[in-house]
Amino acid sequence: MDRCSFCGREKSDTNLLIAGISGHICDNCIEQAYEIVQEELKKKGDFDINSIQLVKPSEIKSSLDLYVIGQDQAKKYLSVAVYNHYKRLMHHHRKDDDVEIEKSNIILVGETGTGKTLLARTIARLLNVPFTIVDATVLTEAGYVGEDIESILTRLLQVADYNVEAAEKGIVFIDEIDKIARKSDNPSITRDVSGEGVQQGLLKLLEGSVINVPPQGGRKHPDQKMIPVDTKNILFICGGAFDGIEKKIGQRLNTRVVGYSASKVADKIDRTNLLQYIAPQDLKSFGMIPEIVGRLPVLTYLHPLDRNALRRILTEPKNSIIKQYIKLFEMDGINLSFKDNVLEYVVDKAIEFKLGARGLRSICEAIMIDAMFELPSKGNKEEMTITKKYAAEKLEKQDIKRLKVA
Ligand code: ADP
Repeated sequence: MDRCSFCGREKSDTNLLIAGISGHICDNCIEQAYEIVQEELKKKGDFDINSIQLVKPSEIKSSLDLYVIGQDQAKKYLSVAVYNHYKRLMHHHRKDDDVEIEKSNIILVGETGTGKTLLARTIARLLNVPFTIVDATVLTEAGYVGEDIESILTRLLQVADYNVEAAEKGIVFIDEIDKIARKSDNPSITRDVSGEGVQQGLLKLLEGSVINVPPQGGRKHPDQKMIPVDTKNILFICGGAFDGIEKKIGQRLNTRVVGYSASKVADKIDRTNLLQYIAPQDLKSFGMIPEIVGRLPVLTYLHPLDRNALRRILTEPKNSIIKQYIKLFEMDGINLSFKDNVLEYVVDKAIEFKLGARGLRSICEAIMIDAMFELPSKGNKEEMTITKKYAAEKLEKQDIKRLKVA
């Protein structure tokens, strides 16, 4: 009696039984096997290291320019870091060379709302390695309320569809890294659950080691089967506002310039933007442990956004806020336009209320909400021009507190 060697069905229970050298396979098992093959190929296809196209740093930067205004220095550093990350992966793949290219994790310092996350997200679009963004504020030392450090890798595994090999070549953006700085220089505070302890935990990830990751996240559970993930080739990009770090930078610059050339050096310092002088020791003064600082060798900064930058953000990025409104109205057959002075007005308000780039959207929403509500039901409307008078009327109706975004 012939049977399928896979499922054991007898020939009479199948539509088709194919004979091989030492066994049989039924039509049902062929279909299942085919699906498995397709799944596997898809997984490999998404993150196949052999299919990586090396994109030159200047090309990476040009792509970033389409979405992110300004921040040239940060873009340059990121582009080079990603390029080198890819090169390192390819190099490893060959394994025939004894020069080991070490990875260079990155730290981006800049006020909130200046484009750190946007840069990371935009980079992610260009990549064909797994990428995830995690927030350092939720991380706590094991045993305390919050998430274990390993949860960072759980996310990466999830976006890689649990393809461990792919996850091990991924990129992780850790946002708000400054929130795990030591809160106090006072050593008598022994329970710094979200500070130094977390930094120690994070260090293991940054250094490169094999970490046991709970596949579903959450707390480690004795029964949960852990997935070992080697972080050696995972690129970490950290971002943080480091509020008040200018003071530390200023202090350092001041102490440095004692001596005969003091006045000469001091003259050259642009006190309005101290962030441009940021150095690793400032991160230490801020409360990052030296080992972490050492593992983030690429340090770069983002400029605060001035009015010119805010104005450009409104209209220039490929998916700028204004372009989005125009698109939305176009779908209703309405030709939407904005007077130039409306855009100036929106920028003025964002500055006046200290809302930054994030505020641009909430201000525009306040201005546009009535039109977006009413126009679609006024079937015959074909044109809509937003004037400054219209914008001011709509905005003044709004409670400004509501525009404040976290
Ligand atoms: P953060 O630095 O706090 O991570 P984000 O990147 O989240 O800031 O910026 C918040 C929002 O502000 C973005 O979603 C984007 O719309 C806008 N934005 C901020 N900076 C820029 C920039 N340089 N170019 C274009 N848009 C920006």
